[in-house]
Amino acid sequence: MNAPLNISMPAEASQAPKAYKLLIDGKHIDASDGRSIERASPGHGFVVSRYAQAGTVDVEAAVQAAHRAFETGPWPRMKASERAAVLLKAADLIESRLEEIARLDALESGKPIAQARGEIGGAVDIWRYAASLARTLHGESYANLGDAMLGVVLREPIGVVSLITPWNFPFLIISQKLPFALAAGCTAVVKPSEMTSASTFVLGDILLEAGLPAGVVNILAGFGADVGAPMVSHPLVEMVSFTGSTRVGKMTMAAASNSLKKVSMELGGKNGQIVFPDADLEAAADAAVFGGFFNAGECCNAGSRLIVHEAIADDFLAAVKTLAEKVRVGDPLDDRSKVGAMISVDHMEKVAGYVAAAKADGGNVFSGGAQLASNAGQYLDPTIIGNVTEDMAIAREEVFGPVLSVLTFETIDEALHIANNTPYGLSAGVWSAGIDTCMSVARGVRSGTVWVNTFMEGYPELPFGGYKQSGIGRELGKRAVEDYTEEKTIQFHRGQRTGWWVG
Ligand code: NAD
Repeated sequence: MNAPLNISMPAEASQAPKAYKLLIDGKHIDASDGRSIERASPGHGFVVSRYAQAGTVDVEAAVQAAHRAFETGPWPRMKASERAAVLLKAADLIESRLEEIARLDALESGKPIAQARGEIGGAVDIWRYAASLARTLHGESYANLGDAMLGVVLREPIGVVSLITPWNFPFLIISQKLPFALAAGCTAVVKPSEMTSASTFVLGDILLEAGLPAGVVNILAGFGADVGAPMVSHPLVEMVSFTGSTRVGKMTMAAASNSLKKVSMELGGKNGQIVFPDADLEAAADAAVFGGFFNAGECCNAGSRLIVHEAIADDFLAAVKTLAEKVRVGDPLDDRSKVGAMISVDHMEKVAGYVAAAKADGGNVFSGGAQLASNAGQYLDPTIIGNVTEDMAIAREEVFGPVLSVLTFETIDEALHIANNTPYGLSAGVWSAGIDTCMSVARGVRSGTVWVNTFMEGYPELPFGGYKQSGIGRELGKRAVEDYTEEKTIQFHRGQRTGWWVG
């Protein structure tokens, strides 16, 4: 039995929770009915933040503000170079407040502070990338339609967009949406998760300081039913970009279909890492542990299924177990922690339920498997389950916790069958020194991203999104701004009318 985790209380524990108001039309306001949401640090237990809790009246005000800013404000009409300047200024301001934002995300989500710093640094890079795309956004022209015709295809901002984000990467995920929508000239209503809204409110302040006109970005804290749902069904909203669970994503798509809104969906994953005997097994073992336990496994890209060739399974798993036992679980604010707290007690119990069901179905929990005792907060031990078969829930469903399921294979076809045997298709990894093997897996896996001899790297230049029930559309990449535009075709005719109809 390990000694209980000793979590020390940070200075914030003895201070009043930080208060955040809604951002509507450039003003910080209380919720119309005066309600608020308190968020306690899952790693420490004390209340960190209190947000004004929006309701349907506030959604209406935020959408109207975004609509006015779109219809009559300067943002969609200014030069791309001017929009890019605001995005670049925002990136600089985010960078200058990196430590503060990382600390808010670590306190509210339970993620390790060192990892949070990396996410905010990554977000800065994305804001700069989006600024560069603002200036290269362009349409097409067709001078090959005969002498009398010139065809021009414009890219115009789509309008008001609703952006809805989850709790697991609070600042990073809004940074995968908002700068691209802004680069296109859209205006937005943003809803972060009700558990991790603080850093998004800080982003709102940063944008105003960077010179974003009032009403272009409106931020609402609140729950899915009272805030997310009306943001999706509102007739003045033209597009919904949603990141979250596949279950809520389906509801969101159905609601958006009422007014035929464009949707972009970044949803769940059940990703496999396939390991062949000729791989660099030391690197693959490290990546297996990283893939399974990064962000406590609360990650759409988690490599939650380890698919190992039978010939190396015993030795490889022994190496993975040794590494897993070295993963430092603890205080999210401790620089040395690799795994922090679980987002909520309910979620931790759900994850524990998957482990219990796997055991009952014949799985072998050969590392971890328990809740860790601590003086504060909720923590799970990184867990590895062997003897997993494809029909078990743990092999098919998104567990969203630090739980690695191990399956074995003999042939490439078998490995591909296992990798593809889920409703999800977000990402996958393959480990082999053989180019044929790597290419066969990379081509055969039905997922939006495949990492070859690496895992879970991300670059703003590379599109990201899912096949199957992992989503619709792509974020990032050179077309990320186009996603927030409509195409308009204009046909210029010159000279005498051609093709007279009546006379
Ligand atoms: P969730 O689906 O419960 O919530 C996501 C957001 O939707 C939250 O802001 C929530 O308040 C809101 N919401 C809830 N009900 C709504 C409704 N009826 N209408 C509109 N909005 C509503 O997801 P979560 O638990 O916050 O996040 C975890 C999930 O997100 C996992 O499934 C994970 O895989 C997924 N995720 C996917 C990606 C990706 O890029 N593919 C990235 C991160 C997380």
